[in-house]
Formats: sequence, structure tokens, C-alpha cells
Amino acid sequence: MILIDGKKIAADLREDLKKEVSELKSKHNKVPGLTVILIGEDAPSQIYVRNKERSAKEVGLKSEVIKYPDTVEEKTVLKKIEELNNDESVSGILVQLPLPKHINKQKVIEAILPSKDVDGFHPMNVGNLSSGYESSIPCTPLGCYLLIKKIEPNLSGKKAVVVGRSNLNGKPMTQLLLKENCTVTITHSKTKDLKGECLKGDIIVAAVGMPELVKGDWVKKDAIVIDVGINKTEKGIVGDVAFDEVSKVAKAITPVPGGVGPMTIACLLKNTIECFKRSN
Ligand code: NAP
Repeated sequence: MILIDGKKIAADLREDLKKEVSELKSKHNKVPGLTVILIGEDAPSQIYVRNKERSAKEVGLKSEVIKYPDTVEEKTVLKKIEELNNDESVSGILVQLPLPKHINKQKVIEAILPSKDVDGFHPMNVGNLSSGYESSIPCTPLGCYLLIKKIEPNLSGKKAVVVGRSNLNGKPMTQLLLKENCTVTITHSKTKDLKGECLKGDIIVAAVGMPELVKGDWVKKDAIVIDVGINKTEKGIVGDVAFDEVSKVAKAITPVPGGVGPMTIACLLKNTIECFKRSN
């Protein structure tokens, strides 16, 4: 069984990105810039944003965090986004979710120029991804995709099962696997026989948010299993996959933590650099 070391693969990716940023700096005499907008005091968001800022600086990006209290008016945020859209030194804009209830998430996402949308959430990028055109790709599924490709470079004809259909994870993951010529089944809370569907997968990506939902006897021998879930339980942080059982059956599996998580931030940096390259 291969334990897919997301920490190491993400560190290698960041090293490659650092070299790329240095080359871009020599060529263009400027570096890609990432601006994150953080609203309110949500503790996990504060940690994510701090990690994003630190990682961005480590690879040599220009990094900026704009903080607002959770009482900020929607129009103030929209005005700031417009300013950043027009700022040439900003390659990528990310508004950390979740937002306070009085701020319309969709309005905020759509205010970001698609060419600066490093999260890949703008409908233009969602449409481009599903049409197979160039687009920003949501960071977590992009990270999962890179991990799968490390284990199996040729995915053509493989049967992939995606558990969860969120806009953040399941849907873009499905598009990425389709693009690789997988036959993809996307499952969700109303799927009738989830175990039966999972058993057909050469690849399983679980993005649900239910501790250890995918059991050992749900997984085909030698499947590749990617666990996106982050669930706080009494025994600590666990994924959506029952790791101890599934690791006995799978060919390769991501641990939680240390699998998909580290790839998400590395892919955000990658997306920022891609936005910079497309606009220069
Ligand atoms: P979400 O928006 O809550 O979506 C969950 C999906 O799972 C929904 O499509 C839901 O189906 C489906 N689902 C719920 N119960 C199910 C069941 N019993 N059987 C099959 N499907 C079921 O969650 P998300 O934002 O995609 O996040 C999923 C997990 O990934 C969470 O644990 C989150 O913390 C984690 N996450 C990790 C990272 C990372 O960097 N590693 C990044 C983002 C999220 P319906 O559509 O029918 O409701």
C-alpha cells in the first residue's frame, strides 16, 4: 500500500513554484501578487489565512491580507474588490469563506474578475472548466487531481467515484476526472446504494464531511482512495474514509491530516502564478 504523502508532494510543488517565481521575476521584473480578504473573527479562517500568507511569502509572491470586522458593509467589500481588479500588481484575489450572513456570497464571488479568481469559484471559471477550456480550478480538487496523477499518470478509462457534489469539491473534481477520460460517478446524500457505487471505483474521492463514512468493504482491491474530509472527533481529526480498514485494501490512500490538506494551499499559490502568467 502506498501512503500518499501530501505534505511531501506539496513541499516539492512549493519548491518548484519558488523557482518559477524567481524566473518570472527575472523575466518581468515583478512577481505575482495574492490578496486575501478576511472578514470577521472566525477562528479556522484566521488560521487558513495566516497559513496562506506565510506560504505565499515563502515562494516569493507579493502577499497582502485585507481584514474587515464582521460588521463591514457589503458595498465596502465590493468596492475594495473593484479596486483590486484594477490593480495591476494584484494577480489573484481570494475572499475567505464563510462570510457573515449579511454579505451575499454569490455577489462577492462574481465581483472578482474571472482572470484574478484564484479560487476558481466565479461562474465563468466554473463554466470554462466544465467546457474543457482554460480556467482557474478550485484548489482542493486540483490538489486531489495532482495526487492521483502521482500514483497513476494515465487515468484514461478508469472508473472514478466521487462522493459529495459540492461546488467546492465534488463537482470540480468530477470535471477534472472527466477531462482525464475517466468514467465518473458522482454520488451524494440521496444516492441509493453508496457502498455498491464505491465498490466499482478504481479511484474514490470522498468529500463529504462525515467521519469514516467509506469503510473497508466499500473499496475495491487496489483502488486509489483520496480523502478530502476533515472531521473533528473525540479521537482527533479524521477523514471521510475509515483509514485503518481501507488502507488494507487500497493500492494507495491519503492520510488525514497530511494528505489533501497541504496540497490545497500549494495549489492556491500555483493558481496565483497561473493568473499572473495569463495576464502577462
Ligand atoms: P459540503 O458542501 O457540505 O458537501 C458535502 C457533500 O456530501 C454534499 O454533496 C452531500 O450531499 C454529500 N453527503 C452528505 N452526506 C452524505 C452521505 N451520507 N452519503 C453520501 N454523500 C453525502 O462539504 P464540502 O465543502 O465539499 O467539504 C467536504 C469535506 O471536505 C468536509 O469535511 C470539509 O471540511 C473538507 N474539506 C477539506 C479541504 C481540504 O483542504 N482538505 C477543503 C475543503 C473542504 P447533498 O448534496 O445531497 O447534500
